[in-house]
Amino acid sequence: MDLYDRPLRDLRISVTDRCNFRCTYCMPKEVFGPGYEFLARDQLLTFEEIVSVVHHFVARGVNKVRITGGEPLLRKGIEELIGMISAVEGVEDLTLTTNASLLARKAQGLAANGLNRVTVSLDAMDDPTFQRMNDVGFPVSTVLQAIDVAAAAGMRPVKVNAVIKRGVNEHAVVDMARHFKGTGHIVRFIEFMDVGNTNGWRMDDVVPAEEMIEAINAELPLEAVTSNYPGEVANRFRYVDGEGEVGVIASVTKPFCGTCTRARVSAEGTLYTCLFASGGTSLRDVIRSGGDLGGVIDEVWAKRDDRYSEIRSSNTARMSVPVEMSYIGG
Ligand code: SAM
Repeated sequence: MDLYDRPLRDLRISVTDRCNFRCTYCMPKEVFGPGYEFLARDQLLTFEEIVSVVHHFVARGVNKVRITGGEPLLRKGIEELIGMISAVEGVEDLTLTTNASLLARKAQGLAANGLNRVTVSLDAMDDPTFQRMNDVGFPVSTVLQAIDVAAAAGMRPVKVNAVIKRGVNEHAVVDMARHFKGTGHIVRFIEFMDVGNTNGWRMDDVVPAEEMIEAINAELPLEAVTSNYPGEVANRFRYVDGEGEVGVIASVTKPFCGTCTRARVSAEGTLYTCLFASGGTSLRDVIRSGGDLGGVIDEVWAKRDDRYSEIRSSNTARMSVPVEMSYIGG
């Protein structure tokens, strides 16, 4: 338990800080341009080091592991890594978050190696909006095709994450709800968050989750559903006609720090106890110097007192968050 009696249950591991998209709310081109220095190969945790980290977290109560990035499918040999992690006893739910650019090609291999499910990021149903947001001209159709391939490979239901930004893609809320209703896939609408220092976040850019649900409900009637497990980040709603469900992640307007059971490890092996943390602890240094990895994790978790979003919501102003989403992983 940490200082607020929160157990350690989920581990998110970023396997690369690189991405082939330049989403304006995450890795804007002006900052992550051609001259940007990403981590060098020897700075990244190796597959063996990642598996060792997973072992130690599982021994401390973690049963859900999510692989993220950067774009995790850019990491060479990702299928092999998935196989190594899924073989760790105690990993009950192994998932991965991806922009889906390489997913159609890799879904079969990922599923065969033990990946249970994927979450795919998609911010609109129309190319002009989606391409303006990913800023590399990537089309919606390729993401939709990858979702079908992933589902056919057995990774069902596919969760689809959409970040909603005021004045940019509010219309995507109803468009996406309409498109995915009845498909078995679950869209989760995420409030634009103030992670990192590069995305120019302002409270005015946030579309409150409640407003998103009202917009859907006006056209496609919804009712609230209780959460699947304590600490689930999405508030769930199902269609009254029984054709599936949607979720909203209201991390700005309704922070859920009180039930947060997540630890995050960056691609270079730094452990963070909050998405908005200003500092972390290098597990890579501990591993490479032959130190007591389990002991260090225990010590960090025992001292954990983060509740950034709750504090920010009482301030409503932006606070300084030095770690970028693309570095720590979403
Ligand atoms: N490249 C992968 C992808 O696109 O899903 C994984 C990494 S990405 C950082 C993980 C998730 O974080 C994505 O769903 C992305 O939309 C979300 N994200 C990034 N910046 C965000 C922000 N400022 N607010 C809310 N969500 C954000």
